[in-house]
Amino acid sequence: MAKPFASSADLGEKKQSMEVLAEGVYALTAEGDPNVGAIEAEDFLVCFEALATPVAAREWLARLREHTDKPIRYLVLSHYHAVRVLGASAFGADVIVTHDKTRELIAERGEQDWASEYARMPRLFKEPESIPGLTWPTATFSDTFTIDLGGDRGDLVLAYCGRGHTEGDLVAWLPKRRIMFAGDLVESQAALYTGDAFHRDWSAATLDQVASFGAETLVGGRGAVARGRRGVDAAIAQTRDFLTVMLREAGAAGSVREAFERTHRALEPRYGSWPIFEHCLPFNVSRLWDELHGVERPRIWTAERDREVWDQLQS
Ligand SMILES: [Zn+2]
Repeated sequence: MAKPFASSADLGEKKQSMEVLAEGVYALTAEGDPNVGAIEAEDFLVCFEALATPVAAREWLARLREHTDKPIRYLVLSHYHAVRVLGASAFGADVIVTHDKTRELIAERGEQDWASEYARMPRLFKEPESIPGLTWPTATFSDTFTIDLGGDRGDLVLAYCGRGHTEGDLVAWLPKRRIMFAGDLVESQAALYTGDAFHRDWSAATLDQVASFGAETLVGGRGAVARGRRGVDAAIAQTRDFLTVMLREAGAAGSVREAFERTHRALEPRYGSWPIFEHCLPFNVSRLWDELHGVERPRIWTAERDREVWDQLQS
């Protein structure tokens, strides 16, 4: 029997869990759906990630408002993917911050990515007509961007760690609490999406850079919050292992089809039951095959190309 396209048949609501990681530091996880967070400053809020639509974002904000009524000054977006950014208008933030490359990627491929992700994961797009258009950052940076949280709360440091899940991922780091929001650069008990990735950089220098912060709590892009040094190390190691196995298996294959079969066989025992594993793998292998054969930047995913790759590999 043919597998349903991507996550188009995944319509079951996920349970959301609001967690207070430290005083004034919040994470909302959702059994493998995209995670979001917020950090309280002395007299404002920094929100991390925006979900796929304003309606979805407003449900998160309603839960956050049970804890704090401070105004949202910053909305930080870890990268350009639609399910992370298109809910931005609900926040009414003064400043929307991304990496420089994320702004370029939104201009280059934001429209196509929106159509692609909507078809792949329709459940995440709650009331899609509430999206007013593409989300544009109002502040960008290349290396680091520091937000003074005021009082004795310390800084929130946004940092670029190198090419990884996309060309322009950032992490948000709270040195005083040793808490990191890692976006999709790290997944904890959730499969990786690597369809726009730079596998070789990500699996080596970029994850080394992420690990070098020495976080003691880490909120990845999807999946549970990683707690303690051992939990954080395990999440980073899982992410690296997924990439390393993909590189090894696809590197030994003679065709993209064989690369898919080899990576599927090698990854399935450990990761097959994790959220979006079957959904992601054809797109992942397609991009990795390109990367291994000299295609420097990820090709743009369109709804049409998504179907072609799916039919070629996952049928
Ligand atoms: Zn992503």
